[in-house]
Amino acid sequence: MKRSLAILLIIAFITALPSCKEGRAETYSAFVTAMDTRGEIRVYGASHKAAADDCVALMHELDKQLSVTDKEGLVYQLNNSGETKLTATLEELCTAAISISAATNGAFNPFVYPLVRLWGFTTDSPNVPEKDAIEAACATVAGTSLSFEEESVRILGGGAVDFGGIAKGYAADKMEALLKEKGVDAAIISLGGNIKTIGTKPDGSPWTVGINSPKADLALLGVLRVGECAVVTSGSYIRNFTENGKTYHHIIDPSTGCPAETGLVSVTVVADSALVADSLATAFFVLGMEKARPIAEQFGVDTVFVTQDTIYVSGGLKEKFTPDREVEGVYTVVFD
Ligand code: AMP
Ligand code: MG
Repeated sequence: MKRSLAILLIIAFITALPSCKEGRAETYSAFVTAMDTRGEIRVYGASHKAAADDCVALMHELDKQLSVTDKEGLVYQLNNSGETKLTATLEELCTAAISISAATNGAFNPFVYPLVRLWGFTTDSPNVPEKDAIEAACATVAGTSLSFEEESVRILGGGAVDFGGIAKGYAADKMEALLKEKGVDAAIISLGGNIKTIGTKPDGSPWTVGINSPKADLALLGVLRVGECAVVTSGSYIRNFTENGKTYHHIIDPSTGCPAETGLVSVTVVADSALVADSLATAFFVLGMEKARPIAEQFGVDTVFVTQDTIYVSGGLKEKFTPDREVEGVYTVVFD
């Protein structure tokens, strides 16, 4: 064989190799930047490459519908003209968001956008608003509702929707359905703090999901070894700004109009559904640990609540959570 042909064949072979090997299973990762995050869809089995790529397309399609800033999107249209087309996605998400809001006594509020906008969290220059402006936005948030027609949805009360606290979970669940439909039986989806595992790893070992540390000098709080489930984290360290020495984060308590202050710095929820885990993590952050616990029990979900110095791990995760070695001396770990 001619040397140049041999080199070409070697290059072709290397290009065709899956991105990495884990255990004996070949894996392929598709990456996506959407919903203000960089996500990864990793499938086990090189033949599932197309299914992972389909998830990327799905993510872009959902982002387009649900973004508060994409002028061609449906949520943008709903917020700015008061009405838009009722797609299956919008109907599912609105219904789910309203029901989670009711179950969390309004701590999760899909109409929080006037407050998010007022604090400037969708801009590059967030700032502390005037007290009067916060009160006015709070009243608008509280007075907003949706009215569903057969083919359209209208927003009433002058408010605006924001699915930032639930959309990534919804997207992860939709990706899971898509992957399963295409015959994928082992995959892990990671969408900025939203992890969804699918099936079991081909080598039979549990999925290992790291929980990020709120403290910059510590990478991980620990790892969870889990089967098929969703693991979603909300934290004040994820998006925030500092003004006059005080730090303000992006999870707003709709009853005060200000960033929630309950002593928590992060909440992780482990549930079957990523949508449930995502929306509850946001709600639990607002509610604080004591008010959140009975709701977690009601939903049958597990939790990891993190304060400045303590990691509280719920009973169902006792055998699954291993604190990182570096945590010692920084956090006390309490198992319920
Ligand atoms: P997450 O990171 O899932 O906790 O979501 C935070 C995002 O959800 C914020 O950036 C806002 O867009 C939105 N959000 C903030 N506060 C709330 C709230 N109380 N209920 C619902 N969504 C919220
Ligand atoms: Mg959330």
